[in-house]
Amino acid sequence: MGGRPQTIVAVATAQGRAGVAVVRISGPQVPAISRELVATDLPPRKALLRTFLDADGQAIDTGLALSFPAPASYTGEDVLELHGHGSPVVTDLVVARAIELGARLARPGEFSERAFLNGKIDLLQAEAIADLIDSATAQAARSAMRTLTGVFSQRISEVLEQLTTLRMHVEAFIDFPDEDADVFDVASAGHRLGALEASIDDLLASAREGQLLRDGLRVAIAGRPNVGKSSLLNAMTGRETAIVTAHPGTTRDPLHAQVQLDGLAVLLVDTAGIRDTVDPVESIGVERARSAARDADVAMLVVDARCGLGRSEQEILAGIPASTPRLIVYNKIDLTDQPPALSEDPRGTSVYLSAKTGAGLPLLAQALRGLSGASGDEGVFIARRRHLEALRAVHSHVRGARLQVSGPNRAELVAEELRQAQHALATITGDVTSEDLLSQIFASFCIGK
Ligand code: GDP
Repeated sequence: MGGRPQTIVAVATAQGRAGVAVVRISGPQVPAISRELVATDLPPRKALLRTFLDADGQAIDTGLALSFPAPASYTGEDVLELHGHGSPVVTDLVVARAIELGARLARPGEFSERAFLNGKIDLLQAEAIADLIDSATAQAARSAMRTLTGVFSQRISEVLEQLTTLRMHVEAFIDFPDEDADVFDVASAGHRLGALEASIDDLLASAREGQLLRDGLRVAIAGRPNVGKSSLLNAMTGRETAIVTAHPGTTRDPLHAQVQLDGLAVLLVDTAGIRDTVDPVESIGVERARSAARDADVAMLVVDARCGLGRSEQEILAGIPASTPRLIVYNKIDLTDQPPALSEDPRGTSVYLSAKTGAGLPLLAQALRGLSGASGDEGVFIARRRHLEALRAVHSHVRGARLQVSGPNRAELVAEELRQAQHALATITGDVTSEDLLSQIFASFCIGK
C-alpha cells in the first residue's frame, strides 16, 4: 500500500503478572497519542513519572513514560514507551486507550521489521534479535549478540567489497575493451577470483558453525527394519523415544529426538527405513524418510554387523545426496567378535557398536562431532540455514566465474556470474529481499518485538 505508516502498539514484555510491564507505541501519531495518554509533552529520552489516562481523564496506572523521537529510536520512528505495573488488565487498558487514539495492534515482529525497513538494522541483525530471545544456552546467546553487534554483517561486507571491485573491473573491460587491456588480465583475474573464493570458504565455515549452534546437527537415521535403529535412538537419548519391537516396519513416522553429545546439540530423526515397500502406510513413511535424509546434515545408515552392507543398504546409500556426509553404524556387535571401533574409508565413516550393551556409543559421538566440522571455538556468530544456502550460491557463482575466466566471451560470462554472486550475498543482509522472505522472517518473532 505504501503511504504514511500506521501507528502500532503492543505489550513488549511477557504476558502475565509481573513487577513491571512495558507498552510500546511506534509511528507518526505517537506525539498526539502521548499528549492524550500522559497529558504532557515529554522531553526526548528522559524517564518521567507520569499518570496514564483513559478517555475520561481517569488514571489507568502510573509509571515511567519515555519518548524517543524519530529517527533516534529502535524502529526509526517516533516511539513512546510506558513502563507501568505488570498487570495484564492494566496493560490491556493502556493498549486499548492507544488504539482509541488511532494506533492498531502490532503484528509479531513488526517493530523489528520497521527497524529493518528504516535502515536501523540489517536483516542479519533482525534475525539475531529473535535468536537472542530464543537462545537456549549461554553460548547461543553470546553468539547471537555477536551477530547482533554486526560481526557477521562485517564479514559479509568485506566479501561484498572484494566482489564489487572485481565486478567494476570486469564491467569496465566490457564497456571499454581497447582502452586498458590490463584491467582484465586473465592471470590476475583468476588469482583474485581464487582469493575471493577462499574468503567465502572461510565465511561459510564460520557461518556453518553458527548455524550448528543455533539448530544443532540434523542426523537422519536410515536402515532396513530390525537392524536396531530405534534401539540406537533410545540408547543415545537414554529414554524410550522410539518404539522397539522385534517386528520389522514399526517406525512409520520420522521420530525426532534432541540430544547433547559432548556439548554438540544433535537432532536425531529416525526414519522408516529408506527402501521400497508395497504397504501404503509404510510407503508414506519411506517417502518421509527420503526427504528427511535430503534435509539432513549427516545421513546415518544403521546395518546389522552380522550381515554388513547388502543390496538394500547400497540402494539406501545411492538415495543419499552426494554432498551429505554419511556415517555407517554396524550395530549388534555383541552378537559378533567385532570390538567397538571407529574407522574411515571411501564409503564414509564407520562405527562398530552395540545399541543393546552400549559398547562403542562414545565412538559414535566422536564420529558425529568429526562429521559436523564444529571446532567448539568461542567467537562463533549465530547464523541460519538460509544464510548458508545463500553463501553456497555465492560460492558457486564465484567458482563459475573463475572457471570462465580464460574461456571465450569470458568478460560477459564472468560479469554475469559475479552479478549473481552479489545478488545472493545481498539477500543475506536484506539489501535485496522479497516480501515473502520478510514476512516469513518477521512472523516468527514474538509480539511486541
Ligand atoms: P529398527 O526396526 O531398526 O528400529 O530395530 P529395533 O530397534 O526395533 O530393534 C530390532 C530388534 O533388534 C529388537 O529386538 C532389539 O532388541 C534388537 N537389537 C537392537 N540393537 C541390538 C544390539 O545392539 N544387540 C542385540 N543383540 N540386539 C539388538
